[in-house]
Amino acid sequence: MILVLLGPPGSGKGTQAERLTDKLGLTHLSTGDILREAVKNGSELGAKAESFMKAGEFVPDELIIDMITTKMEETSNDSGFMLDGFPRNLVQAQKLDEIFKESSLTIDQVIYLNVPRAELAKRLSGRFYCPTCNAGYNYPVHLPKNDGVCDNDGEKLLRRADDEENVVQKRLEVYAKQTSPLEGYYRGQGLLVEIAADSDPDEVTQQIINSVSKVKTN
Ligand code: AMP
Repeated sequence: MILVLLGPPGSGKGTQAERLTDKLGLTHLSTGDILREAVKNGSELGAKAESFMKAGEFVPDELIIDMITTKMEETSNDSGFMLDGFPRNLVQAQKLDEIFKESSLTIDQVIYLNVPRAELAKRLSGRFYCPTCNAGYNYPVHLPKNDGVCDNDGEKLLRRADDEENVVQKRLEVYAKQTSPLEGYYRGQGLLVEIAADSDPDEVTQQIINSVSKVKTN
């Protein structure tokens, strides 16, 4: 099974992807996570991507497409994968269609997490993560047991550089301009499932599972 998670920054793609990949046995491929890891490791890709990420802009398509193609080839998980953060514009979506056509693969569903913009800004400003185990927290809805430190390893929680207020506004604008056209692109292909994702995270997970189980039984 191949699923694509679509939604603006702060819509819960990362959180939902983690829960769903566990439940569905899929491999989670997050372009944002792969890029952050590349920056952390000081790789050539990380050096090329870092300035774009800090500014809340997209990393150039050629770099992203090469990176995700390699990752998909490395993924030997037969039950499939969940793409999170890719594709993010029409060029990337069309390229993905080409790649899949060549390998006789198809996207089963595109899950669009719809959250109002005011709620997104609020969520992003409360978002923190553990630099060691990558666990995510969100004030005030998902608090660590001890303020400011990770439940798993006691590490001090950090905020992503691109979650600072001025960068958040830029990322939301870039989403509206470049990524939101993908909603129509996939709706036109009959693949888009829209989920109202401003409710409780457990409810959102359940709605996605209900939707995906229809694919499995078709
Ligand atoms: P995310 O964790 O998905 O919010 O991604 C963090 C940042 O990584 C984005 O703001 C972009 O700078 C970069 N990025 C992630 N995925 C892509 C993509 N598919 N195309 C271009 N840039 C990306």
